[in-house]
Amino acid sequence: MKSESKNRVPKMEHPENGDEFAGLQVNAGVAQPSTVNPWLSRMRKHRQVLFTVDEYVSGILKGDVTRLSQAVTLVESTLPEHQVVAQEVIEKCLPYSGNSVRVGISGVPGAGKSTSIDAFGVHLLNKYGGKLAVLAIDPSSEKTKGSILGDKTRMEKLAVHPKSFIRPSPTAGSLGGVARKTRETIILCEAAGYNNIFVETVGVGQSETACHSMVDFFLLIQLAGTGDELQGIKRGIMEIADGIVINKADGDNIDRARLAATQFKNALHLFPMPESGLVPEVLCYSGFYELGIDEVLAMIFSHIDHVKKNGYFDYRRNEQAKFWMYESINEQLKNGFYHNPTIRELIGPTEQEVLKGQVTSFVAAKRLVDKYYQVQSSKYNAQS
Ligand code: GDP
Repeated sequence: MKSESKNRVPKMEHPENGDEFAGLQVNAGVAQPSTVNPWLSRMRKHRQVLFTVDEYVSGILKGDVTRLSQAVTLVESTLPEHQVVAQEVIEKCLPYSGNSVRVGISGVPGAGKSTSIDAFGVHLLNKYGGKLAVLAIDPSSEKTKGSILGDKTRMEKLAVHPKSFIRPSPTAGSLGGVARKTRETIILCEAAGYNNIFVETVGVGQSETACHSMVDFFLLIQLAGTGDELQGIKRGIMEIADGIVINKADGDNIDRARLAATQFKNALHLFPMPESGLVPEVLCYSGFYELGIDEVLAMIFSHIDHVKKNGYFDYRRNEQAKFWMYESINEQLKNGFYHNPTIRELIGPTEQEVLKGQVTSFVAAKRLVDKYYQVQSSKYNAQS
C-alpha cells in the first residue's frame, strides 16, 4: 500500500483535481521526446521527388500510370518550381495530344453523374476498346477541401478497370485555375494514350461553361419532374448542350422521364440551330440499372463522326485553343498584379479609403493599376 502511494504520479494543478472530483485524477501528459533523427524532418520536406522533364515525358508516352499521376500532381501544384517543370512536360507532350474524344458530363448534384460515368465508362471500354480518363472540374472543392467529383469510390466498376484513369478535381485556386489544370491534365492523358476523356462537372454556375470550353461533346444529365427543364433554359445551359439525357428512367419513373424528354425536345425548338449543325438529341436512360447506355454512347459517337466530317470538330478545338490563350493572359495579368509586393502593400489601405468614401472604386482601381505598370516598367528599365 505504501509503495503504491510512493509510485503515484504527483497531482498537477487542474480544475478537475479539486475535492468535488475525488476519484478522478488528471495527470500531466508525457512530454514529446525530441526528434531522435534530425535528418527525418529534413527528408520529409523533400519527400516529393522531382523527376527530370524527360523522365516524366518518357514515362507518360509509355503509358506509365504512376508517372502520369505524378506529372498531374505537378500540374496541380502551386509551387513555382513545380510549375516550371510541369509547363515543360506539357509542352513536350503537346505534339502527342489531341487524339481523343473529349466528353463533358454535367448535371446537378444527385442527377446521377458518377453512377452514369461508371456505366458509360465500362460500356465504352468493353464495346469500343481503347482507354478512358475521367477528370473533373469542381471549384467548390476548394472550399470543402475534399473533391466530390471524379471520386474513385463513386465509380466502383470503372475504378478497378485496367484501362481507366480517374483523377478528382484539382483543389487549388479559382474556377479559372482549376479549369486550366484540368485542361492541361487532358494533354498529359492524351499523350499517355487515353483516347477517351470524360470531364465531369457539377451543374451549377460557371463550371459548366469552363467544361464546355474544353470538350468536343457536352452531355447534360437531367432528371424528370424537378423543374430543371425550365431552369436549364433560364440558365442558358441548354444552348451549350450537344446532347441531353434524362437519367433514372426506370421503375415507375419511366413515364415521367419520357414526358420530360418530350418537354426538352419541344424546348430545343426555341433555340437557333447550333453551330455544329446538329440539333441536340434527347434520350432517356438508367445509369443505375444500365438501361439505354449503348444508345447514349452511340449518340455521342455519331455526333463526333458528323462534326469531324463537316469540319466543326476542328473549328471548335481551334476556338477553344484561342479562348484558352485569352484566359491564360487574363490569369497571368491578374496573378502578376495581385502578387506584386507593392500592390499587396497598397491594396488594403486603398480598400479602406473606398470604404470610407474618400475615393471612388474606379479611381482607386485606376490608381493601383497605374502604380502596377509604373513598378513593372521601372523593373524592366532597370533590367535592360
Ligand atoms: P451525382 O451527385 O450526380 O454524381 O449522383 P450519383 O451518381 O451520386 O447518384 C445520386 C443518387 O441517385 C444515388 O443514390 C444513386 O444510386 C441514384 N441513381 C443514380 N442513377 C440512377 C438511376 O439510373 N436510377 C435510379 N433509380 N437511381 C439512380
